[in-house]
Amino acid sequence: MAKPVIGVLALQGAVEPHRKHIEAAGGEFRAVKTPGQFEDVDAFILPGGESTTMLKLIETFDLWDSLKKQFAEKPVWGICAGSILIAENVTSPAQKSFGLLPVTVQRNAYGRQLQSSHAVINGYDISLIRAPVIAKVANDVTVKAEHEGKPVWVEKGRYMATTFHPELTLDYPSPMHREFVNLVQNYKKKAA
Ligand code: GLN
Repeated sequence: MAKPVIGVLALQGAVEPHRKHIEAAGGEFRAVKTPGQFEDVDAFILPGGESTTMLKLIETFDLWDSLKKQFAEKPVWGICAGSILIAENVTSPAQKSFGLLPVTVQRNAYGRQLQSSHAVINGYDISLIRAPVIAKVANDVTVKAEHEGKPVWVEKGRYMATTFHPELTLDYPSPMHREFVNLVQNYKKKAA
């Protein structure tokens, strides 16, 4: 079967660091930023960065409708800022989102930049950078990992979110990339 093509939304944030993880997990990396490029991928990663800036760029380049349509058909993994963009509810402050995952995220809830930290999640070193806290999850959301008693890795169907950055660790692939590439592969099989 052809390698699943994973498009990393390349408007702002940590895009390139995903390349080696995706390749090591058996996928093909693509940086995407136009509706034509969105159509050519099997799944999306919304990377970490600054969600407010990403939203502004999505609006400036008029990408909302095209992304919304793509997300209704394909797997999506939101990382940190990306998890904020795909959450159903966003607080502190409230902000527009695609609402793919029935979770509530509270922005910057671990503190400011200086409080960014490292942690070990499922045996893998990760960074939390001005991460949101997942304050609430619906019953049908699977919590795959917690940190300090709060969910940090959640999944429902073909949507996944992590509030931390596994792509910044140089040990390939991260368990989260492996999980996502598998999820995309299984989804492609079902859809075929
Ligand atoms: N604090 C950022 C936001 O609210 C997210 C930080 C990150 O993606 N590392 O968008």
